[in-house]
Amino acid sequence: MLGLMQEWPLLCHKILDAAATQHGKREIVTRSIEGPIVRTTYTDARTRALKVAQRLERDGFLLGDRIATLAWNSARHLEAWYGIMGIGAIYHTLNPRLFPEQLAWIMNHAQDRAIFVDLTFVPLLEKIAGQVKSLTRIIILTDREHMPATGLANTVCYEDWLAEADGDFRWRQFDEQTAAGMCYTSGTTGDPKGVLYSHRSNVLHAMIAAMPDAMGISSRDVILPVVPMFHANAWGLGQSAPMIGAKLVMPGARMDGASIYELLDTEKVTFSAAVPTVWLMLLQYLEEAGKKLPFLNKVVIGGSACPSMITQKFQDNYDVEVVHAWGMTEMSPLGTLCTMKPETDDLRGEERLAVQKTQGFAPFGVEMKVTDDDDNAHPWDGKTFGRLKVRGPAVARAYYGDAGTEQFGEEGWFDTGDVAFIDPNGYMQITDRAKDVIKSGGEWISTIDLENLAVGHPDVAEAAVIGVSHPKWDERPLLVVVPKAGKEPSKSEILGFMDGKVAKWWMPDDIAFVTEIPHTATGKIQKTALREQFRGYRLPTV
Ligand code: ADP
Repeated sequence: MLGLMQEWPLLCHKILDAAATQHGKREIVTRSIEGPIVRTTYTDARTRALKVAQRLERDGFLLGDRIATLAWNSARHLEAWYGIMGIGAIYHTLNPRLFPEQLAWIMNHAQDRAIFVDLTFVPLLEKIAGQVKSLTRIIILTDREHMPATGLANTVCYEDWLAEADGDFRWRQFDEQTAAGMCYTSGTTGDPKGVLYSHRSNVLHAMIAAMPDAMGISSRDVILPVVPMFHANAWGLGQSAPMIGAKLVMPGARMDGASIYELLDTEKVTFSAAVPTVWLMLLQYLEEAGKKLPFLNKVVIGGSACPSMITQKFQDNYDVEVVHAWGMTEMSPLGTLCTMKPETDDLRGEERLAVQKTQGFAPFGVEMKVTDDDDNAHPWDGKTFGRLKVRGPAVARAYYGDAGTEQFGEEGWFDTGDVAFIDPNGYMQITDRAKDVIKSGGEWISTIDLENLAVGHPDVAEAAVIGVSHPKWDERPLLVVVPKAGKEPSKSEILGFMDGKVAKWWMPDDIAFVTEIPHTATGKIQKTALREQFRGYRLPTV
């Protein structure tokens, strides 16, 4: 027997409808690419998104078309998303930090038909548009006054193009399983792979993200997504913030410490989310400028492991709660968040920090397990680590065009490529990416643990650990360090600092000082490049 409740398909435009109905006056504040701070509201965003939808249809775009965006976080980018989704087309976020050839490859693979592009990225698009034959429309996200001179064909000015629509439009109706968005993984190995979100998965992910023990956000929050919309959907904030009716503050192109601080302060931001490097820049700025954070309550930190030093500084010096989170593009992206359960909430000091070093537990809607190579599940004992596998309504079941099928296992389990353990309270800790873990004498050494420890040294700006081949042990850890400006720490000082805080046999065999560590387009340490750089490095222990 079926239930007798209504069919109410989970479609993304319903999120914006709800925001405009219940929270219509709530602001979306943008540091515009043109310069000034621009204020709109959820009512404006809905009206303008309807116009985007209407205008796209008039240009001949329809259900299933891939429409790219190459843009910073802004109200315009958000309107474009909802307008695209409102006709059943698919927003395809492009990461501008990729090489032009990679972007052209991705656009061709996705067969993007149109693109919304920020002024900043017009020169980048000029390099690749000619190689993307499917592209028939380029919409530059600005007004007439700021339109650049460009040789790009089929170009229109967003504000003029939008003004040609009256907004008298109804969202199109389709099945909730219809594709809504697309994002390619940055592909540190092999070609990038396309993840295709559905309306249903986006709506469910937004609900999961907002729950009290996940991000725990409400209409009373002022949310600053520093994490870009082109990096795994701004961790869902483009959907969960309007869903719960929170004021949004969009940082545009400026993410340095001073610019972020300015927005946090003037807009009275209560909640923000970004990768550890952004927070390091902010903390450094705060210390140098002697500023405080009176309004900020909570920051979500993920994308790569959050060093305890960052957590400690936020909590002790600024009274800001840190929520360490883990996820990936294939998971929409949230997987786990480190909030407290009754079992952990009474812990203080070092014990609490130890919990916060884990990536947290999976909310309803994410199932996880850790297995050996033969898919046998490991116990949740807080030490046995293995392959981390996940499933849920906002987890990919395949890549676009059937790439990477080997990662999708039986009964929906997706192999994340991460190595982790889970403790008896359900808290998961990533020890490595499967391809980065160091295999020394048949045992595994976690590079993330060593890196976290090394950046705790006051003279270390950034640290990375890679395995270097060793005749006896197979591989041994080499610590690569970028010292802080004007500092010259010695090897023995850093090793002395680390000594006793990890198992003896985990200690790096050597330290190499460099001026820069290579990063991927999503801001992670590029271990492949680093291993290449230190190929054949002779350890003193050999
Ligand atoms: P890409 O894998 O292409 O860089 P993602 O942004 O999807 O793009 O990255 C997901 C990966 O980032 C995860 O599989 C994991 O290895 C890493 N990651 C994300 N958050 C954390 C975290 N809090 N701690 C450690 N690693 C993390």
